[in-house]
Amino acid sequence: MQRQMVSWAGMAHLLFMAIVALAGFAAAPSYAVSPVIAINDEAKKAVVQAQPLRGDLSVLEGSGGNITVLNSPKGKFLVDGGIAYSKDSIVQALQTISNAPPLFVVNTHYHWDHTDSNAWLHELGATIIAHPNTLKHLSTSTRVDDWEFTFPPAPAAGRPTVLVSKTKTMKFNGTTIRIAYYGPSHTDSDLWVYFVEPDVLATGDTWWNGYYPFIDNENGGSIDGMIRAAKENVQRVTEKTLVVPGHGPVGGRAELIEYRDMLIDIRNKVAALKHQGKSQAEVVAAKPTAAYDRKWGGFVINPDFFTRLVFDGLPTTSK
Ligand SMILES: [Zn+2]
Repeated sequence: MQRQMVSWAGMAHLLFMAIVALAGFAAAPSYAVSPVIAINDEAKKAVVQAQPLRGDLSVLEGSGGNITVLNSPKGKFLVDGGIAYSKDSIVQALQTISNAPPLFVVNTHYHWDHTDSNAWLHELGATIIAHPNTLKHLSTSTRVDDWEFTFPPAPAAGRPTVLVSKTKTMKFNGTTIRIAYYGPSHTDSDLWVYFVEPDVLATGDTWWNGYYPFIDNENGGSIDGMIRAAKENVQRVTEKTLVVPGHGPVGGRAELIEYRDMLIDIRNKVAALKHQGKSQAEVVAAKPTAAYDRKWGGFVINPDFFTRLVFDGLPTTSK
């Protein structure tokens, strides 16, 4: 069952990534059209499907970031909600699990491919839980130059009303759920969610399984924050834990370790070049990611883009 799920998830993700790459996300700015608009256009056509994970947990893939769902007779507990243009397909996928309504949604961070469905989920009865910085970003316009896009404020119904600045523990139909702030990492608003008894961790975008990650340097993210979060993810799990990344197939401890080590090695290579006084363009030309590109660089964030993101996020004095 798990093998099947992973292979399906992999396929769905490849499709998503191919679309994104075609949209121009893999290229250096500037884009003919912002990747956000291209991804939204694809989300209108997305086919979202639920895959069983463990116990009452499932994962929905196909609309932006992964959506983790804990089902119960009374309602569902979601981690992230996908893109609102995929609403009909997400609703259909949720109904293949059960008819129970959404009761809670945790936003792992403010990015729209994780928060855009908040308003319609809230209208179906869900309480939105997030870090205070997610509320801050969703309450105003947020510019991301790396995407050439300004996110408008979310409608009032789409804004979180339960805020987690450090940690929160909840009980949901007998399952213990721990939620906590990573500190600044992928953005300034990243939360992890751990389902204790089923032993399933949702990392949000601190982990992209199999791909170079986006890093939102303009809104609190940095390579050093990503590495801190990657180390925390490794420490938090055992060989038995199932881990749902923000993007990519479900994985586990071994994949988290490989990802952490990749981030550290590339960070150190880029930092050494930057410390020598090389410009961003010179560092990109030196191809510090080359050993990893085959495995990690094929899709959304290509090697040059990732190098720029690492370079830009390093303090000028770092070694
Ligand atoms: Zn993100």
